[in-house]
Amino acid sequence: MPADATAAPPPAAPRPAGHIRLTSHSGGLGAPPLHWGAATPAERGPVVGTTISRGHRNVIGTHSGSYSVYRALAVAAGALSRDHRADLTDTSPTDRIGPHPQWSDPARIVSLDPWGATVGEVFAAELAAGYDIRPTIAVTKAHVVLPEVADAIARGRLEPDGHVLLANGAALVTKAAIEPVWHLPGVAQRFGCSETDLRRVLFEETGGMYPELVTRSDLEVFLPPIGGQTLYIFGDPGDLADPAVELTARVHDECNGSDVFGSDICTCRPYLTHAIEECVRGAQHGGVGLVAYSRKEGRALGEVTKFLVYNARKRQVGGDTADQYFARTECVAGVQDMRFQELMPDVLHWLGITKIHRLVSMSNMKYDAITGSGIEVGERVNIPEELIPADARVEIDAKTAAGYFTPGPVPDAEELAKAKGRGLEA
Ligand SMILES: [Zn+2]
Repeated sequence: MPADATAAPPPAAPRPAGHIRLTSHSGGLGAPPLHWGAATPAERGPVVGTTISRGHRNVIGTHSGSYSVYRALAVAAGALSRDHRADLTDTSPTDRIGPHPQWSDPARIVSLDPWGATVGEVFAAELAAGYDIRPTIAVTKAHVVLPEVADAIARGRLEPDGHVLLANGAALVTKAAIEPVWHLPGVAQRFGCSETDLRRVLFEETGGMYPELVTRSDLEVFLPPIGGQTLYIFGDPGDLADPAVELTARVHDECNGSDVFGSDICTCRPYLTHAIEECVRGAQHGGVGLVAYSRKEGRALGEVTKFLVYNARKRQVGGDTADQYFARTECVAGVQDMRFQELMPDVLHWLGITKIHRLVSMSNMKYDAITGSGIEVGERVNIPEELIPADARVEIDAKTAAGYFTPGPVPDAEELAKAKGRGLEA
């Protein structure tokens, strides 16, 4: 450890070239206090993850999730000044979300900063005083154009109204991007482990990436280097918090192969586009629609693991069968799933949601997490049979047999043992 690391850096002091300033010692003389779950932003305090003024930092990690590493590369390559501060002129949200009562319940939201979209407004004084406070949420508007929606119009299932859905097939949305901000005591509570154990395992399993996890117990907030979430809202975002307005919602976990490239081994894109069609229709009938998209590729196992599992499934003796679907994943990954829906409802509480009238999901894990967090769920909307690709039959049979919601029959052991997946060379 360098000798200078034991000295507390002065607030906003420029770092001397050639020296590495460790972050594992208390040195935040100018760091604003954070009181997670406080009722007002003034009492809560701003999240300061800047790397410019080390003394101002009151969190572990830095902004932008996994992209913080690219930012470091840009600095290393000389393309970005390490002292660059964002000019936030004209970047404020197009739509105001909240504040909602859920924001001041420290146990209700533990994985995002509810004030993250409005830092320019609620922490204007701190920004003016020189604190580098960055938005962790951005809200904007867009038109989304999908061939499946155009097809629904052509087949008469959807009708453009010039308001929610334009004649050219574009759906009008409000969209929000959200970076993860974890309150470690709350995250530990969600997963039923001690905060000490959570901190230690996060430190060890990232190869010691953030020493403060184990040396700075006074820092309770962590900006993890993981993917965030994107929300697509159809209709008035203000209606999401009104339980009297019918809400159609899907919480979707990223699947690049299907969502973007149309790979047919799973139902991800067809279910996603079906949800968007339902959201558009709901918004046109006086309701509001929401798709919450989480960057949790391949059940949060990552795409390399996912593709290895595909090969293992299709090369196993007897072919690709539903009764071996979860076992093959577990063989490669050690677990069947790492998405852990425990944190997923936070974004719904950020939006003020108390009731989802139509949940476009068959996942019992998502359903249990949402209802367990206190949100009422009405109807559950399954993917229509005709939208299930032939090669995805293995997945849907395995999931319904494992407890996924289905209005139809649950396949029995004999049915699950039938090879239904395509071979690798087919
Ligand atoms: Zn998929």
